[in-house]
Amino acid sequence: MTTTREAIPLLDLAAQHRPIQARLDEDWRQTLQNSSFIGGTAVVDFEAAFAKTVGHAHVVSCANGTDAIELALDGLGIGPGDEVIVPAMTWFATAEAVTTRGARVVFCDVDADTNGLTAGDVEPLLSPATRAVIVVHLYGHPADLPGLSALCGQYDIALIEDCAQAHGAHVQGRSVGTWGRAATYSFFPSKNLGCFGDGGAVGTEDSKLANDVRVRAGHGQTTRHVHTLAGRNSRLDALQARVLLTKLPSLDAWVGERNRLADRYGAELANIGGLTLPSHGASNDRHGFHLYVVKAARRAHLRSALAEANIASAVHYPTPLPLQPAYAPLGFGPDDFPEAARIGREALSLPLFPGMTADQQDRVIAAVRQALT
Ligand SMILES: *Cc1c(COP(=O)(O)O)cnc(C)c1O
Repeated sequence: MTTTREAIPLLDLAAQHRPIQARLDEDWRQTLQNSSFIGGTAVVDFEAAFAKTVGHAHVVSCANGTDAIELALDGLGIGPGDEVIVPAMTWFATAEAVTTRGARVVFCDVDADTNGLTAGDVEPLLSPATRAVIVVHLYGHPADLPGLSALCGQYDIALIEDCAQAHGAHVQGRSVGTWGRAATYSFFPSKNLGCFGDGGAVGTEDSKLANDVRVRAGHGQTTRHVHTLAGRNSRLDALQARVLLTKLPSLDAWVGERNRLADRYGAELANIGGLTLPSHGASNDRHGFHLYVVKAARRAHLRSALAEANIASAVHYPTPLPLQPAYAPLGFGPDDFPEAARIGREALSLPLFPGMTADQQDRVIAAVRQALT
């Protein structure tokens, strides 16, 4: 076929925003009219609404998802001399936050099925210096939360959930983020719940930790003009809070749509040689399907076939973190984290987003089949 085909993006935020366009326009307008750009009721209201949606006792907003991890680690008093276990395959920020706190990153390989940590893989890495495990629900797939929360409880270690890719996911009916000491969120525009710039939050059931994180995010100020510690400036803007308040009621439907699209890929792309489809998790769990990531033995071939059909795809992520130049001093080689390495070699994210049409998905399915069969 030689007809020019309209491009299919990996993610079409405009399609997602179209049904709520009028309310988003109103958010811009109100922000300008009030000219109260930082703090205010929208921020307070969003923290409360997000806490209720997820099931957190406390949510403290901040400037981005990386700050959220740093603030959670600082709030837990983790720093030099401490070890934190981190997955070998995740977005760089998860490990970076540990390193910038002065703590030592201990990399753990990921599970072939969930692409996340399991209690069984983490336990052999525990040492007397281990203070925390940061679990990432990579691509939205909930990791082994029952196992990890039991393990961390047993050894009195903090479980931190990096939920940047998993808004709307749950395990046994309970939201991801509520299984550990603290959860961190990013509202970067492309996440399952994204704002119009950078945004983030820490969620916790621990009121002391919530208070500490809030103080640290606000220059260590406990009462006006009294700074009890040297904190930082990490704030969610009022505009971002308004946008998030407008989008939050749609989150559940969007994640439902992501799951329906994933189910259809799963049915239509089953049993193709050299193609491993993502697991959808246990029937009483809910995958966030932030990304639909297949593992393809002939990835380069599949990628170029999709590109030829004007279909976007992406690699999340090509390099296991222990092999990043920043972690070269740890001395790891390409065979040390085999599952992370396999993702680096074979993972390919296919287009999947709320508002994706059946036509668009048909074209992706046909192109994948044609490339690999
Ligand atoms: C996006 C992301 C972050 C960082 O969030 P920012 O808001 O970009 O700082 C952290 N961890 C994971 C797993 C992410 O996907």
